[in-house]
Amino acid sequence: MVEPQSANRSIPFKAETIQLLNILIHSLYNDREVFLRELISNASDALTRLNFELLTNREVFEAEAEPKIHIRTYPDEKLLVITDSGIGMNEAELIENLGTIAQSGARSFIQAAQEKNAHLSDIIGQFGVGFYSSFMVAEWIQVTSRSYRIEDSAATWFSEGAGTFNIEPAEYEHRGTQVKIKLKEDAAEFLEEFRLREIIRKHSDFIPYPIYLNEGEE
Ligand code: ADP
Ligand code: MG
Repeated sequence: MVEPQSANRSIPFKAETIQLLNILIHSLYNDREVFLRELISNASDALTRLNFELLTNREVFEAEAEPKIHIRTYPDEKLLVITDSGIGMNEAELIENLGTIAQSGARSFIQAAQEKNAHLSDIIGQFGVGFYSSFMVAEWIQVTSRSYRIEDSAATWFSEGAGTFNIEPAEYEHRGTQVKIKLKEDAAEFLEEFRLREIIRKHSDFIPYPIYLNEGEE
């Protein structure tokens, strides 16, 4: 008998990604705030990549949507949500970009992390491993995305930062990416608007797109 294919798939992370997650979670406690810089930088990159598409490609889903980044907090549920209207990812791109791609950067980062005095928080972004730094503050992370390609449908990536992540189809009306973070008990500071504003000012001052904090409809 052929088993019905489940829409929800569990996929293992690459071995170096698991090692990287362990290092990030255990050694950067005092610099955890940089996770937000990395998420904002990914959102900004996605908006810039969309701009390139708009220059050459007429077939862009929601071509008129405003380029922007939203950060929203839901204190009762301990949720922090970062949304962008950038290029988005389909299911295959979520799998590849957030878990299975062979990352030479991860290996270099792990090596650098073993050297004394390495400023890990400064080098995260350089090695192309920024996304994973959110696991420093997250119990789990859910990424829902819809690509700019009209024919692609939305998908959701979910992980608790252990050995695997899950992928399934999603309903998501807008172009771009939503990163939903369930904050750890000891990371409640990242629900406070003044704290988030301070981090944005300190680390993301030169982002060329508007960043809205708890503004507007979801
Ligand atoms: P880097 O940004 O240096 O490539 P990251 O770990 O921060 O490394 O992100 C990995 C990849 O995941 C990115 O290169 C990009 O392809 C994809 N990605 C992450 N966040 C987003 C986003 N908000 N929108 C579209 N793609 C994203
Ligand atoms: Mg990045």
